[in-house]
Amino acid sequence: MIPAAFDYIRAGSADDAFAQLQRLGADARVLAGGQSLIPAMRFRLARPAVLVDINGLKDLDYIRIDSGTLSMGAIARDSAVERAPWIQERKWSLLHDVSRVVADPVVRQMGTVVGSLCHNDPSGDWTAVALAARAELVVRGAAGERTVGIDDFLVDSFTTAVQEGEMALAVRFSVPDDRTAGSYQKVERKVGDYATAAVAVQVSLNADGTVREAGIALSAAGPCAVRVAEAEALLKGQAPTADLIKAAADAASRKSEPQADLRGSIEYKKNLAGVLVSRGLRQALARLGVQS
Ligand SMILES: Cc1cc2nc3c(=O)[nH]c(=O)nc-3n(C[C@H](O)[C@H](O)[C@H](O)COP(=O)(O)OP(=O)(O)OC[C@H]3O[C@@H](n4cnc5c(N)ncnc54)[C@H](O)[C@@H]3O)c2cc1C
Repeated sequence: MIPAAFDYIRAGSADDAFAQLQRLGADARVLAGGQSLIPAMRFRLARPAVLVDINGLKDLDYIRIDSGTLSMGAIARDSAVERAPWIQERKWSLLHDVSRVVADPVVRQMGTVVGSLCHNDPSGDWTAVALAARAELVVRGAAGERTVGIDDFLVDSFTTAVQEGEMALAVRFSVPDDRTAGSYQKVERKVGDYATAAVAVQVSLNADGTVREAGIALSAAGPCAVRVAEAEALLKGQAPTADLIKAAADAASRKSEPQADLRGSIEYKKNLAGVLVSRGLRQALARLGVQS
């Protein structure tokens, strides 16, 4: 199919984009990489009257590490994350893993991290990663810029804290310390497919080897990505033993609320969520030199 008729505005600056969005309200949608919005329009699942294209906004095309924060602007592409030199550092292993399995290389060339978070697909990859890493979004609204933690940002399937007339400017991740590692575990039918189940894990250890903080989140496990707070709490302050990992995996299986589809049954996907949490925790710990 071809999309319904729409008007197109190429924003000249972030201020211009924001002014257009404020003026047009519910009629307008931000066009970032277009890798989700354009297919949705072609299937007539989305029928925006106006697209406000932000691809020309070079001041939103950045990835920088500054004062303990990694910031990605609204048109930082997946491919730029994948190619960033710092992504090879152990502390960024969660972002390293995900940057190689979102969609396929062609989609990653255009798709943006912020766009993916704004899209909030139930099976998206970046949403689970943002939860596990406790990211935050910078959103520009009528009252100015505000920062929204990822738990509040992800509201429901395809719904976020970005309101009509607003736009997300950036996503921010705290720079992990050197005793931090992560893992992204995704089962997909083939390269370029959405997850059958996926798990994001990030673990920070104390000097004595106990867990200082754990981030564990699931994708393709409900209306949108979900934090497994029970598993995080189980690990915190404890030595990460095999029994504890098993308990965290069981908590993830219980938390997972997938839908049955061509990728698998509910029972299979719930079990898979637990298996992937176990694998993810073991891989993150192995990256920190801890056998579990
Ligand atoms: C073949 C194919 C396979 C894919 N496989 C996967 C996969 O395995 N895993 C996965 O996670 N994704 C997958 N995707 C989706 C892809 O990752 C998209 O890039 C991503 O979901 C959206 O990013 P985008 O920059 O293209 O956003 P767009 O498509 O431009 O926008 C998506 C939505 O977010 C809104 N939006 C975007 N930016 C902003 C902003 N700054 N402020 C406010 N609203 C904004 C738009 O208005 C729109 O509603 C796939 C896509 C394709 C085409």
